Amino acid sequence: MPEFVWTGDTEGNLNYFNKSVYDYSGLTAGQIDKDGWLQIVHPDERGENIKLWLLAITTGKDFLFEHRFKRYDGEYRWQLSRATPQKDAAGNIQMWVGTSTDIQEMKEMDAQKDLFISMASHELKTPVTSIKGYVQILQSMHTDSKDDFLKKSLGIIDKQIVNLTDLITDMLDLSKIKTGSLSLNKENFKINELVAEITEEIRHINPNATIIFSHEDEPVVFADRRRIGQVLINLLNNAIKYSPASKGIDVGINLYGEDHVAISVRDYGIGIDKNDQDKIFERFYRVGGDSELKYSGFGIGLFIANEIIQRHNGFIRVESEKDNGATFTFILPVISVQEMPGKKK
Ligand code: ADP
Repeated sequence: MPEFVWTGDTEGNLNYFNKSVYDYSGLTAGQIDKDGWLQIVHPDERGENIKLWLLAITTGKDFLFEHRFKRYDGEYRWQLSRATPQKDAAGNIQMWVGTSTDIQEMKEMDAQKDLFISMASHELKTPVTSIKGYVQILQSMHTDSKDDFLKKSLGIIDKQIVNLTDLITDMLDLSKIKTGSLSLNKENFKINELVAEITEEIRHINPNATIIFSHEDEPVVFADRRRIGQVLINLLNNAIKYSPASKGIDVGINLYGEDHVAISVRDYGIGIDKNDQDKIFERFYRVGGDSELKYSGFGIGLFIANEIIQRHNGFIRVESEKDNGATFTFILPVISVQEMPGKKK
């Protein structure tokens, strides 16, 4: 599919289109001049298109947008458009040069991948739940058994099923986020009690990890307890996974401003390069190089965590340096705060 190339003046009026634009749209230069180039943009994307184009023109920042263009036969195809300002030696914008690339097939493949993830995770859920149930029955039947190998094996199977269930839950959540059906069941609860429960659970599954949890207040949040727990589990599992040499992890709760609370998970592991820090919250993003091969994962945990926290009107961030550990912090609005007895003033 040949690329579309177009240019605009400093006020954003488009004044040149290459031949591909006319061939694709079936319009003549006269028709585009008369009724504007927006006529080929799908009506659903026109509003956002104008808004982002004006924003680029007024700020001088690159324009980047996905929109559908109408072909000569009436079919719409997705395009990725990008425009950059061309400046003179003094830095003044002279004109804009833009390109649009056909991404229809990429979009269709993406939709198929989403459908596959959704179907596979649904199909996997039932057998895994059944295996988990039977392993637990076997464990309870053999608690007093002298057969250490059997007990150890059942313990390992149980732990791996927890890993598998977490992965399937993540895959299901990914589909829910995509379709906008991730629902929240909010209630009031003390965040410190949830953090204590989860850290205990993670210690139980990872007896070699040293997790130190400290807090001085008892903030009450109005949130989905299970979902916030899921975010924390994710951060703790990452802290363990990406710290092969040190198993020390500090978990803290601190008040943040007047009416927010910050929950942080600090590890002393491999850390994250500055260039990767924003990207790790994107879907399927994993830091490349050795670590990608060394540590297993899908790159969806932090994407889901970020989505959950944003849906609570909070935010999540990371502070880290390569080879120097990482601190992940998520911030949530609080309802009320009780001080712990004996708090240092
Ligand atoms: P996954 O761990 O399955 O790859 P995540 O979405 O949880 O996916 O994390 C995305 C990426 O961020 C990881 O692949 C890893 O490169 C990086 N990362 C996440 N947590 C940490 C951490 N505590 N220390 C170092 N790198 C991390």
